[in-house]
Amino acid sequence: MKVRLLLLPILCTMAVTIWAQEMKPEDTEVWNPEPAIVTPGQMGSPPSDAIVLLDGSNLDEWQHEDGSAAKWQLEDGAMTVVKGTGDVFTKKEFGSVQLHIEFRTPSVVEGEGQGRGNSGIFLQGTYELQVLDSYENRTYSNGQAGSIYKQTMPLVNASKGPGEWQVYDIIYHAPTFTSGREFETHPYITVFHNGVLIQDHTKIQGTTPFIGPPQVRQHGKGPLRLQDHNNPTSFRNIWVREL
Ligand code: MG
Repeated sequence: MKVRLLLLPILCTMAVTIWAQEMKPEDTEVWNPEPAIVTPGQMGSPPSDAIVLLDGSNLDEWQHEDGSAAKWQLEDGAMTVVKGTGDVFTKKEFGSVQLHIEFRTPSVVEGEGQGRGNSGIFLQGTYELQVLDSYENRTYSNGQAGSIYKQTMPLVNASKGPGEWQVYDIIYHAPTFTSGREFETHPYITVFHNGVLIQDHTKIQGTTPFIGPPQVRQHGKGPLRLQDHNNPTSFRNIWVREL
């Protein structure tokens, strides 16, 4: 019995070896399906299969929560928060996406901490990736630029200065829910800030409230939402690819 047990792995190894020897290189080549051909963008412009949400010519893809036309200012190809008009939402709704978004905090520095260039990008209208002027502007770490607000601080601070254009490149995976309205799979996010990895497949714990811990709120596809936090932060060149 013992001898038989000892022989078994040896025989298995021999069988695999013989099988591998009989294989050809092409036996492990995959030709179908073939990845779709996408023409990459030039210098940050959208690739050929992107859904463009802001190209600088109009605000047609955006609205306020009540469905009225976006009242943020469109100037020089960028959309700027108009204080007190409220958050803007895309008309389209998304699940998992690759998102490219460029932002600029005001060149005239006013305020400090959370009051400097504050805005935010809410994935599925729900989970805030913080936008803030975090250049020589200390605030709580899980509330600085690139944080998942009040949850996960960025790995590093890759912020450029006030008035400079910056970019987030985001990979976001939408959650699924159990019938009991808990996460079956959490949302996950990866973020590059100005080309630097700052969120590495980060598990999102739930909503991102100002006060209190994250909550789990069941949802389906949702709009991309940009925050009016009373600071004239600007956005441009926004596009997504659905995953
Ligand atoms: Mg914010």
